[in-house]
Amino acid sequence: MRAVQLVQPGQPLRMRELPVPEVGSRDVLIRVAAAGICHSDVHYRAGISAVRPLPRTLGHEVAGVVEKRGSEVARLHPGNRVCVHYMATCGDCEYCNRGYEQFCTSGKMIGKHRDGGYAEYICVPARSVFLLPSEISWEHGAIMMCSSATSLHALNKARLKAGETVAIFGAGGLGMSAIQLARAFGAKQVFAVDMQETKLAIAQRLGAIPINAAAGDPVEELQDRTAGRGVDVALELIGLPQVMRQAVRSLAVFGRLAIAGITDRTFEVAPYEELLGREAEIIGVSDHLAQEIPPLIDFVRRGQLQLSEVVTQTVSLDADEINGILDSLGRFGRQIRAVITP
Ligand SMILES: [Zn+2]
Ligand SMILES: [Zn+2]
Repeated sequence: MRAVQLVQPGQPLRMRELPVPEVGSRDVLIRVAAAGICHSDVHYRAGISAVRPLPRTLGHEVAGVVEKRGSEVARLHPGNRVCVHYMATCGDCEYCNRGYEQFCTSGKMIGKHRDGGYAEYICVPARSVFLLPSEISWEHGAIMMCSSATSLHALNKARLKAGETVAIFGAGGLGMSAIQLARAFGAKQVFAVDMQETKLAIAQRLGAIPINAAAGDPVEELQDRTAGRGVDVALELIGLPQVMRQAVRSLAVFGRLAIAGITDRTFEVAPYEELLGREAEIIGVSDHLAQEIPPLIDFVRRGQLQLSEVVTQTVSLDADEINGILDSLGRFGRQIRAVITP
């Protein structure tokens, strides 16, 4: 089969001819119908985030058709439309047993620690595979498995309830899903904080109240618009210390900040004023749970999570085309979402 692989960090991905993977007894072989090109793939190719061992087929946002199943797999059948949770997990360890398989002791991310979806076929454990209803396109079925799933996990971790107010810091890929999901949860008001007018315009179309952080202090703005109360839930989806601080300062009494933006820098908190005095909480968000995928599929199927604003381009399984997309993602950092449809 054809697969587009990272052979050496810092070098373009290369098309290689590989054998179709062997299917283990608990595995499923999927013919890839769509594989999202994600911003993290830019980091993998550049060597900023180490991928080992090489060569490795990238691609962790995958949808396709079941081609073959292992002898112990009864739940799935050849011909099923499916999407893939990006962690291949064991199902036997302490974390898998408790339903927190993103901490699986032998968990491997597809497209990083094991071969991913930039290929004609991918083999994954059946427990990572979910039926994809026919109302959801291949492209949407693929891209919802990364940023949308993590947005849903962030809202779950923040325990968002109907009637509450939410501020979403960062109206990029995660934010676009978070805004819509927060509305589907029944949030009373959803604020979107960003510095780019184009992103804020999309956020507004999706039902958020836009707040331009370049035009003034977003904390003051949020306090003003909530009559000095603050928001019940804030999500930080950017990974900037100053934004994390703003998000903490925006919280109401009993407010919860869930942080999904990644940074290795620290940020300051004034313990009494910003946390203890309001019994506020700061919560870390890491990936998402397999059990969150079926509800996510339902949100998309019911049209509560629209992804048509997100997919902007499809490319074929071709190393040059994929490298070109990765180049432009790296250069502009824009939310150009491209999906490989082999
Ligand atoms: Zn991704
Ligand atoms: Zn496990």
